[in-house]
Amino acid sequence: MRLDPMPTSLTCSVCGASVDDAGYLPATERDAGYRPSLDDAVCGTCGFNEVGMMGCAPELADVGTDDDVLLYVERTGAGFDVVSVKR
Ligand SMILES: [Zn+2]
Repeated sequence: MRLDPMPTSLTCSVCGASVDDAGYLPATERDAGYRPSLDDAVCGTCGFNEVGMMGCAPELADVGTDDDVLLYVERTGAGFDVVSVKR
């Protein structure tokens, strides 16, 4: 499934930097795709060092939203690809 709507940019909710390579994005599953909680995106660095426990990738519960899934997304030319999904 794809992100719907597809964000053109993401900003990390922890450090405020734009997510230029890969990051974590909580989302809710819909028929059309994953509806992302854009305000709760986390960059890869903060995901490991601030949100996840001691250098581990974050779990959905660590992000603290009531979304269904935590997506690991990678920047592409036009938007973001969903690389993996955690429930
Ligand atoms: Zn960050």
